Amino acid sequence: MNLILDIIFPKRCVSCKKFGHFFCIDCQSKLITPFDICPVCKLGSVYGKTHTKCKSIYSLDGFCVAFVYRDSLRKAIHKYKYKPYIEELTPIFTDLMVSKINKNFGFMSFIKSKPTVISIPLHWYKKHLRGFNQTELIAKYLAKLLNLPYMDILKRTKYTKPQSSLTKKERQENVENIFKIKTNFNVPKSVILFDDVWTTGSTLKNATKILKEQGAETIWALTLAR
Ligand SMILES: [Zn+2]
Ligand SMILES: [Zn+2]
Repeated sequence: MNLILDIIFPKRCVSCKKFGHFFCIDCQSKLITPFDICPVCKLGSVYGKTHTKCKSIYSLDGFCVAFVYRDSLRKAIHKYKYKPYIEELTPIFTDLMVSKINKNFGFMSFIKSKPTVISIPLHWYKKHLRGFNQTELIAKYLAKLLNLPYMDILKRTKYTKPQSSLTKKERQENVENIFKIKTNFNVPKSVILFDDVWTTGSTLKNATKILKEQGAETIWALTLAR
């Protein structure tokens, strides 16, 4: 079966188009790890922990990111949203991310508290159009790899425009109060909130606010890229 598929649909790198691999070793080796920042003030911070002076009641407690969002990864993440790459790229992206987060000792020590992995949802209509949510797939695979619980607990209440198409002010308004906690869920105390890309952080911050309002105590954001 795989052989037939390989003939009909030969593997090609989503970034450089070379045959043989969906995200080739050359493109993987070009990935850059960004410096860690505090998710509140966005200045440098050890392991991405939120500075003590930046903490407030609904703020993130830390932000762990694997790669810089540019070049090969930017292309790959864009293509990832379309079939048939999705099944193939989910484990590749997740493994790459885990290899990086293993080096973030601040985040690794947080993982010892057995946080629940929660992913940023798509609006149901977008998910319906696309057939899947790539963020959810990575988050589930990550939870399995790290042996952590996964909870599908957040729901989008409105259909938002892509953040990249908006000005800074519009971006803030665009994501205000866009999440709800699904009924029948108890919000876990400690959470890894996953999204594929950190653009301004406002989506993750809004999700953090609602989770903390409803019982979460410690939340680290995790993204594949920023
Ligand atoms: Zn490549
Ligand atoms: Zn700060």
